[in-house]
Amino acid sequence: MENFQNFLQSWPAERRAQGVARATSDKVLAALNKDTLQPADFLTLLSPAAGEHLEGMARKAHDLTLRYFGRAVNIFTPLYISDVCTNQCRYCGFNAKNKQARRHLSVDEAYAEARAIADMGFQHVLLLTGDAPKLSSPEYMASVARRIKPLFASVGVEVYSLTEAEYSLLIKAGVDSMTMFQETYNPELYAWLHPVGPKHDYGFRLNAPERAARAGMRSLGLGAL
Ligand code: SF4
Repeated sequence: MENFQNFLQSWPAERRAQGVARATSDKVLAALNKDTLQPADFLTLLSPAAGEHLEGMARKAHDLTLRYFGRAVNIFTPLYISDVCTNQCRYCGFNAKNKQARRHLSVDEAYAEARAIADMGFQHVLLLTGDAPKLSSPEYMASVARRIKPLFASVGVEVYSLTEAEYSLLIKAGVDSMTMFQETYNPELYAWLHPVGPKHDYGFRLNAPERAARAGMRSLGLGAL
C-alpha cells in the first residue's frame, strides 16, 4: 500500500523544481479555480508565477476556511502528563541526556490537573507525554483519557508515534484527535536532529497520521514545520 513516505519519495527535488519551472500565470489561475488540487497544482501555487496572484489565493483560502470551519476559534489547553523521555532530540529540553527532575503523573494526579483545567472553562484538552513507551505506554494514556473524558467535549493527544492498534486503543478510550509535528521532511537532517531513541525512525513518524486515520481518528493535526 502506498504511504506518505513513498509518496514523498516520488517527488524528489528535481521533479519539484521542474514543476515549479513549468508554472505560468494561466496555470496558477487554473489551479485557483479547481475544487481539488493535485500535487502539481500545489507546486504551481508555490512558484514565482503565483506571486502576482497572492490576493486571489488569500481570498480563496479565506472562503475555504469559512466553508469548513466557520468563524470558530478553537481554544484548547495542553496537559503534560509525563516529561520522561528516552530520545535525545537536539532542540528539546526534555532530551534524555538532560539531568533534571522529571514528573510522570499517576492517573489520579492527571485527573486532578484535568479537573482544574475543566473548572476554568476549557472544553478541549490535549494530552502530551515524552517518548518513553514503557512508562507512558498507550495503555497508560488510554487510562488517563478514559478517566478525564467526562470532563471535556474533546480529548486529543500529542504523543510519540503509535501503531494503528495503539491509536485504536486511544480512540476507544475517548481520544478524538491527534497532533503530530514533523520537524523536517529532509531525512538526513531528521537523522541528525534525532540521533538516538525511537524517534530516530523517520518513516515511522512520517506515517503516524496515516495510521491514526486508518484507526478511525476523527481529527488529525499536522504540524508541518
Ligand atoms: S521526543 Fe519529544 S519530548 Fe522527547 S526529546 Fe524529543 S521533542 Fe523532546
